[in-house]
Amino acid sequence: MKIRKFILITLAFLCLLNLNVFSQKTEKYKLKKVVIDAGHGGKDPGAIGKKAQEKEICLAIALKLGYYIETYIEGVEVIYTRKTDDFIELHERANIANDNNADLFISIHVNSTEGNTAYGTSTYVMGLHKSDDQMEVAKTENSVILQEADYKKKYSGFDPDSPETYIILNLYQNAYFDQSVILAEKVQTQFEKRAGRKNGGVRQAGLLVLWQTTMPSVLIETGFISNKKEEDFLITTYGQEIIASAIFRAFRDYKNEVELKNNEYDIVINKENKQKKNIEKEEKVVKKDEDKNNNVKKNEKRSNNIEYKVQIKSSTTKVALDASEFKNIENIEEIIIDGVYKYTVGSTSDFDKILEKQSEIRKKIPGAFVIAFKNGKKVTIKEARAD
Ligand SMILES: [Zn+2]
Repeated sequence: MKIRKFILITLAFLCLLNLNVFSQKTEKYKLKKVVIDAGHGGKDPGAIGKKAQEKEICLAIALKLGYYIETYIEGVEVIYTRKTDDFIELHERANIANDNNADLFISIHVNSTEGNTAYGTSTYVMGLHKSDDQMEVAKTENSVILQEADYKKKYSGFDPDSPETYIILNLYQNAYFDQSVILAEKVQTQFEKRAGRKNGGVRQAGLLVLWQTTMPSVLIETGFISNKKEEDFLITTYGQEIIASAIFRAFRDYKNEVELKNNEYDIVINKENKQKKNIEKEEKVVKKDEDKNNNVKKNEKRSNNIEYKVQIKSSTTKVALDASEFKNIENIEEIIIDGVYKYTVGSTSDFDKILEKQSEIRKKIPGAFVIAFKNGKKVTIKEARAD
């Protein structure tokens, strides 16, 4: 029963998800907002080492990373989930990112295990864990919700210790998986090649804080506090600077890559539009004035309409419409919003019809969800429904 309730609420959550992460613009895409999340805080110390607590290291690295971005990258707003030693509930951390329409969410943590031999860095994206230690990280990081009042209500019966809940979490494909992996790989490369840290790789796990964000997101384990050498490194300003600057370079490279991809796409679109315009020009010559006026009116009317589509995939790279992952799905449309390719099916102004379409598509792609447009611009479902 508990699990069923969890599934239902999860579905509702996905349907009503505040999808205002992307706002379609005619100008070139720029990554403008990043949320930096220092793990734990306040009454929740996180993992405890011999000399320090996880929450202190997370905050120090988060502030340094934010400072580097604010200082060296123009036009990017940094939003912190905490800048002081405060307890912030897990869902609130995701809310801060969602409500601010952030382009990226970076959560900073320090790992810990029984024993003192394990060391190294790893970056997590939301997904299905492939080993027990990945599952353990998810359990540990998610268990902070147990310190929140009413956590059962707030997280729809989510039990951080139950394997079933993780299986359910993973039924829902994360729409930002691909982009999150791109950033995670860059972070790990920087750690290994430039910061001289052990590369524990890009990993997947059912991390609640990532699951609740509606943008590409990663959770970085910057080292093991349970390992003496790594704790000694992570508590120094020098160590924190090395880690923060590695994440900074990964962020900068990710931003450049996503923005460049969008610009390449713009060139193709502009070419197509030019060709279209030329054809339209020729047609206009033979049309009567009356017809022209009618067309203008028609177009005006259409542009005020709300349009719903079902998104089945997003990717920073172009995906062929006949790719095997799209097998048995017809009439796929490719659109680009803020540097990201979105693949959608269906198009209707009728919300009930698009929900039907969504259920149909979810049989093949469980992570599919409804997105809305107004005057051709991406809006939230809430905004579309208000019309
Ligand atoms: Zn942590």
